[in-house]
Amino acid sequence: PLATADLSPRCIPGTEGLALSIVVPVFNEEETIVLFLEALDAQTAAIHTALGPGGRLEVLFVDDGSSDRTVAIIGSLVAERSDIGLICLSRNFGKDAALAAGLAHACGDAIIPMDVDLQDPPEIVPDMVSAWLRGAKVVNARRKMRRSDNWLKRWTATAFYGLYNRLADYPIQDNVGDFRLLDRSVVDVLNGMPERIRFMKGLFSWVGFTQATVEYDRPKRMAGTSKWVYWRLWNFALDGITGSTTMPLRIWTYVGLVVVFLAQLYAAIIIGRTLIFGIDAPGYASMMVVILVFGAFNMISVGLLGEYVGRIAIEVRQRPLYLVERITGRPAAGAAGDV
Ligand code: UDP
Ligand code: MG
Repeated sequence: PLATADLSPRCIPGTEGLALSIVVPVFNEEETIVLFLEALDAQTAAIHTALGPGGRLEVLFVDDGSSDRTVAIIGSLVAERSDIGLICLSRNFGKDAALAAGLAHACGDAIIPMDVDLQDPPEIVPDMVSAWLRGAKVVNARRKMRRSDNWLKRWTATAFYGLYNRLADYPIQDNVGDFRLLDRSVVDVLNGMPERIRFMKGLFSWVGFTQATVEYDRPKRMAGTSKWVYWRLWNFALDGITGSTTMPLRIWTYVGLVVVFLAQLYAAIIIGRTLIFGIDAPGYASMMVVILVFGAFNMISVGLLGEYVGRIAIEVRQRPLYLVERITGRPAAGAAGDV
């Protein structure tokens, strides 16, 4: 049972005008939450102006199984303010799942997922809202440069997006992250997507819709540490590619065809040579080369197949994407997928 367009909850009470939900996944972020809210509060006036009369703004935190004081801090904010909500997941499910939980529960007419570390600057939210009101269903926030990342992250990101866009049917814009404004109609589509392994950037590009782009400079994380390590980024890249393309599987058909052709050529040479010059035993080197090369090809292609089969296994199990343990600070409107 997945959310559909007419089931989408519009649960911000007393809304006459447009409502904007900001969805913020948090994982061990005790140092950054208050700073984030301060920066966002500095923009509320501008956001309200952009939304027009009767507009509402809500901030929905999704706690992704934090083990520090994150939940306590947000909990006390929820007690003080009516515009903050908190969804606690039962454990760490990863940012994409936390985002999915947030999208399923947020009820604004538009939703913006944001990182809590202020790498997604609230200053451009009013511009994003204006672009939305001019008719875009998706407003991408595109970072101008990646000065704040080190060269290795920049290089790996470029390599990944280059490879992904070469393989995928629906290219993703480079330098656009999860930070973007999504119209309710797009959110409903995303909420209805059944896949367990969610590569949000791929899903965002797959849905299409009228898009607009706002540019910004991506600052450094203001406090705390990044939760990404390279091993996780690698797995993220694998999920991204296997989640939205089948190109890597097809490559092997072509590799196979080329190899078959070359092998026939070589077989003809060997047969011809043997017929003309008789049997000549030495051939250890060429034999080893052939065995090793083909062994390697086999392993790579079977491994690749395994990547896809593993993902099929995960999808057919039909486990929920995330488990919600508790929701505080907002009307008790559950979402499809809650347990
Ligand atoms: N995050 C999360 N679950 C995770 C890892 C990260 O909800 O397992 C959140 C984190 O709290 C932050 C956002 O995702 O709000 C981006 O995380 P981070 O800044 O560590 O990633 P980076 O900016 O380095 O890509
Ligand atoms: Mg960050």
